Amino acid sequence: MAYTSPLETRIAKKVTRAIADYGLIEHGDRVMVGLSGGKDSWALIQILDELRQRAPITFSIVAVTVDSGYDGYRHDLIATTCEQRGWEYRIEHTGIGAAIDEILEDHATPCSLCARLRRGVLYRLADEVGATKIALGHHLDDFIETLLLNLFFAGSLKAMPARLVSDNSRHVVIRPLVSVTEAEARSYARERSLPIVGCCCPACGDLSLQRQRIKRLIAELEVEHPEIKNSMIRALANVAGRHLLDRRLNPLPEFREAAGRDGAIPLPVVRR
Ligand code: SF4
Repeated sequence: MAYTSPLETRIAKKVTRAIADYGLIEHGDRVMVGLSGGKDSWALIQILDELRQRAPITFSIVAVTVDSGYDGYRHDLIATTCEQRGWEYRIEHTGIGAAIDEILEDHATPCSLCARLRRGVLYRLADEVGATKIALGHHLDDFIETLLLNLFFAGSLKAMPARLVSDNSRHVVIRPLVSVTEAEARSYARERSLPIVGCCCPACGDLSLQRQRIKRLIAELEVEHPEIKNSMIRALANVAGRHLLDRRLNPLPEFREAAGRDGAIPLPVVRR
């Protein structure tokens, strides 16, 4: 069965490669797609459905929307679209928005709290729908922006994994769009006539100023170096731990062995 366009063919190849490289989907999986109605999550469920119909393995898909409770959120559009395309769908109405208002301290940014609350709901829903994998729509740009955000503002060299096993080992989160750019996801959602739905969160847009700055920086560099995004995403899969300063990656064995029980490290003898 042919794909509907060159763009879909390209995205399908990238996602297939990511699935193979990181072991994202296996035979018999039930994949729960976090479907916010944004372009990325639409692109994700559409391409997974295309792959599902062609894959040599069998897996199923269920879309799940977590409604944070903001006025004006067009979850009805998401539900209608899923119904029209024959996608199993479930929506969970929550009070996450109100909870954030209540818990959050003044001037703190809500996004990490929001992400943790949503993650908790997704884990519960995964159990309820019998999902073996939870698929999220993070794309290549999200990976490299997160890398630079952590590098510039958090003093940490990390991005996000394509496959993450939860702390209690009960859930596996996958990010099949790791090699798909934001521009490709946007074009694909448009090409497949998927209705982009805003999250209606009042913080959306103005709270991610640092991320916007990083986006601009990458875009500026891309003018001079068109391959810069590809280089950055390749770098995340090509880490030279011995060339970093993290002592957890580069322990000093002779010092560690010599250390006493109280952790005291004897100085090496200096011969004159
Ligand atoms: S912008 Fe709003 S919906 Fe998006 S992560 Fe932040 S708090 Fe949550």
